[in-house]
Amino acid sequence: MQPFIGMTIKELEVVAQEAGQPAYRGRQIAEWVYRRGAQNIEEMTDLPKEFRARLAESFTVGLPEVAHCDVAPDDTAKYLMRFPDGQTIESVFLPYGERVSVCLSTQIGCAAGCRFCATAIGGLSRNLTAGEIIGQFLRMQSQSSRRISHAVYMGMGEPLWNYDAVIASLRLLGNEIGVSLRNLTVSTVGVVPGIRALAQESIPVTLAISLHAPDDETRERLIPTARKWKIAEILDACAEYVRRTHRDLTFEYLLIGGVNDSPDHARGLVSLLKSRHVPGNVNLIPFNYVSTPQGFRRPERESVQRFREELERGGLVATQRMTRGHAISAACGQLRRTLLSGAKGNGTSPANDLEPIAALERGERIELMARQGAEESR
Ligand code: SAH
Repeated sequence: MQPFIGMTIKELEVVAQEAGQPAYRGRQIAEWVYRRGAQNIEEMTDLPKEFRARLAESFTVGLPEVAHCDVAPDDTAKYLMRFPDGQTIESVFLPYGERVSVCLSTQIGCAAGCRFCATAIGGLSRNLTAGEIIGQFLRMQSQSSRRISHAVYMGMGEPLWNYDAVIASLRLLGNEIGVSLRNLTVSTVGVVPGIRALAQESIPVTLAISLHAPDDETRERLIPTARKWKIAEILDACAEYVRRTHRDLTFEYLLIGGVNDSPDHARGLVSLLKSRHVPGNVNLIPFNYVSTPQGFRRPERESVQRFREELERGGLVATQRMTRGHAISAACGQLRRTLLSGAKGNGTSPANDLEPIAALERGERIELMARQGAEESR
C-alpha cells in the first residue's frame, strides 16, 4: 500500500491519470489529504465511488497512528506516533497564544550520540520518509481545531543526515499544506556539508544550530560530532547560509549545571558570536534531566538568569525556551524511552537496556511535575 501523504500535487495528478481519470482528480486528492484532514479514501466524497474503490486497492492516506498522547495543563501535547512497520517516534504540539507550533522528528533514533540526549541511547534505526515527517504534522492538525502555523525540526533525529527527505518535507509543508517557509525551523547538531547544501536551496527556513558551548573543548564533552566539525567551520557555513538566504540564525545553547553555564562561558559566547559577525539570537535551553554516566544536572535557576544577563550585557538577544511540557516529559526522546521500557518483550525495543535509566527518569519526572505544580500555584 502506498501512502498519499508525501506525494506532491503533480504526483497525485499522475495517479489519477493512470487510473483513467482527469488530472484535476489528483488535485482533489491533494486537497483532501493536505487541507481537509481526510483520514481515509472513503471520506473523499467528491471522487466517483468506483475511483475511490480502485484507489483503495493500492493506496492509503498514510497518517501515522497515535500510539500514546499526553496533554499538559497548558495544552502542550506530546505524541508517540507509530508507523506501519511498528517503529515509533515523538512529536509535540505547542500552542503559544496566537501561534501554534509543532515539533517534528526526522529519524527513528539518532546517530549523533549527544551525551545529554535521550534519543541518542538506542542509536539510529532508520530515516523517516518525507511523508512520515509531514504525517506527524497532519496527524496533530487532525486532532486540533486550531490551525498549526509553525513547525520546528527539533524532535528525534538529525535533519541534515536525512537531507533529501527533510528538503522534500519542507517543500510539501510550504507548497501543498500552505505553511509559510519562514515559519519553519530546521535544527542541526552542526553538520557542515548539510548547512552548506541547505544554503543552496531556495527555501528560506530558519536555521537553528545546537551550539551548546563557546569553545571546541567544552563542546566535545557534550557532542561527539564536535570533533569532526569545529565551531569555526560551523560558523563559516552559517555565514554562508545567512548571505544566501538573508535569514537570521538561532543558536541553541543547552545549559547543564557546572558544565557550560558559568558567566565565563557566557562571555565566551558573546565574544565568539561578535567576532564572527554571524547574526543570530541565542535560545537558552535548561537541560531537561536525562540520566547520564557523567551525572549531568539541571542548571540552577540563578545561573540561567546570570548567563542570560551576561549575554544581554554583551549585546546578544537571548530567549529562553519555556520549560513547559515537563509534566509530560517533552524533551526529545524521553516519552518514547519511558514507554519502551514499560513495553518489554516486543522483540524490537531495546527495553532491557533502557529500564534502569528509564526508572531513574520516572523518578525525576515526578519531581519535575511537583516542581511545575509548585511554580504554577505561586
Ligand atoms: N539533531 C538536531 C535536532 C534534534 S534535537 C540538533 O541537534 O539540533 C533538538 C534540540 O534539543 C537540540 O538543540 C538538542 O541539543 C536539544 N536537546 C537534546 N536533549 C536535550 C535535553 N535532555 N534537554 C534539553 N535539550 C535537549
